[in-house]
Amino acid sequence: MSFHNLIFSLCTACLFGVGQAAQDGIVRSPDIIASDVVIIGGGSSGTYSAIRLREYGRTVTLIERELVLGGHVNTYHDPVTGQTFDYGVISFANISVVTNYFKHFDVPLGLVGDLFKTNITYYADFTTGKPLPSSPFPSSNATGAALFAYEDELAKYPFLANGYNLPMPIPEDLLLTWGNFLKKYQLEALAYTAFSFLEGIGNILAQPTLYVMKYFAQSTVQNVLTNGFLTTVHHNNHELYDKALLELGSSALISSNVTQVLRSHGGVAVTVSTPLGTKLIKASKLLIAIQPKLESLGFLDLNTEERCLFGQFNNSYYWDALIRNPGVPSGVCINNANPAAALALPEMPGMYLICASPIPDVFTVYYTSPYALSEQYVKHDILATTAKLVKAFGFPAVNGTPEFVGFNDHRPFELTVSTDAIVGDFYGRLNGLQGKRNTWYTGATWQAHDSSLIWNWTEYNILPQLLTD
Ligand SMILES: Cc1cc2nc3c(=O)[nH]c(=O)nc-3n(C[C@H](O)[C@H](O)[C@H](O)COP(=O)(O)OP(=O)(O)OC[C@H]3O[C@@H](n4cnc5c(N)ncnc54)[C@H](O)[C@@H]3O)c2cc1C
Repeated sequence: MSFHNLIFSLCTACLFGVGQAAQDGIVRSPDIIASDVVIIGGGSSGTYSAIRLREYGRTVTLIERELVLGGHVNTYHDPVTGQTFDYGVISFANISVVTNYFKHFDVPLGLVGDLFKTNITYYADFTTGKPLPSSPFPSSNATGAALFAYEDELAKYPFLANGYNLPMPIPEDLLLTWGNFLKKYQLEALAYTAFSFLEGIGNILAQPTLYVMKYFAQSTVQNVLTNGFLTTVHHNNHELYDKALLELGSSALISSNVTQVLRSHGGVAVTVSTPLGTKLIKASKLLIAIQPKLESLGFLDLNTEERCLFGQFNNSYYWDALIRNPGVPSGVCINNANPAAALALPEMPGMYLICASPIPDVFTVYYTSPYALSEQYVKHDILATTAKLVKAFGFPAVNGTPEFVGFNDHRPFELTVSTDAIVGDFYGRLNGLQGKRNTWYTGATWQAHDSSLIWNWTEYNILPQLLTD
């Protein structure tokens, strides 16, 4: 039995009375669980909220559809070496909310440092596989100067640090496409750096600057400049979520699907299908910690305003993968760049890179698309592109054939709305939903795709509201 299965058995056994319902075959009326707060989604924001609310003395029920908590965290346990390695969420900011959270679970943090810097980095045009004669990066002086100049631009918009509380009218520069913004402020030297750090958002140059600035925030720029990102010393971010699941015990319902949410003045009633039967959770407050796309909220008793707002979201697509024996030599990292394209940034869909992990013969791949693609297509494209690279570089043949040992579809990733909607105070109306109908929201859509910033924003903006009676 794997560690995850063991945790699952322990949690379900203590929650459902040692699996009696499953053994005697009797269908009982739905069990009723009373909680102060019911949380839907046990990823980054939902798990953090559950742990902190319990510390504040509130009862919670956390509902997660997967067998594990953690959302975008993907930790690989190598059966050959026994090593662990993160290829989903890797890094965190050095801020007290982060360090306190990891300390609570006794999960040590250290600097990411050079861990993911492989011996040799190449650049290639992934459409042809051909190596580029030189790096698309400008000199480090030019990039550093552009990053400092970018920080000056960011400083003009202090409100971006804290959710989407945008002034009206919206500053026009935030509505420019990122490509035009870079041009206007002559910041082209940071284009490739931003492209490398802000993965998963499709074609970055076409994004409104608002979204790029939310993602490429002050703390991220500082960490890029100082190499100050933190990661777990054990290279196992899942350790935090495994420990969180144990601590939550019967308060976490995993492998569970919400089938209905009914909200009234008195509170919320959430019906959940769990592996051991239907449960009804009655709570005073509901915290939605999943991406609020309309198609993901089929269980919710949406009103016209909610339907209208959530229905406007578009999203990008993001995949991560691990390939054993791709044919690329150990210690090699190949980054995608296209010298013929604007600012050498390749058009997506496509791969960002293929890079040796610390585990022998295992390579990471990251892939994005502005539109939906099937798993079969993405896997095929990754293998075909890798084969092109291997051939064009003339790498010597290796033993074994390429094999996916990890593959995760992180859709829906970045949720965005049109610039017309932004101008029309979409985010003012969206924020207006907080607290209405006993419902609050947290997660990437409300802050940015950055766990540290999400936890910080949740701590100081959402939890205080959930803690008032
Ligand atoms: C490949 C990758 C690498 C990343 N690297 C980093 C990094 O290094 N550092 C960093 O800070 N950020 C990183 N991020 C971004 C960061 O992880 C996300 O922004 C963060 O996870 C978002 O948190 P969230 O709570 O909004 O969503 P999630 O963490 O996605 O949590 C949502 C949870 O809800 C569950 N769920 C969905 N629907 C339902 C439902 N109907 N019922 C019950 N449960 C449901 C999901 O299974 C998931 O567990 C990365 C993201 C990806 C995809």
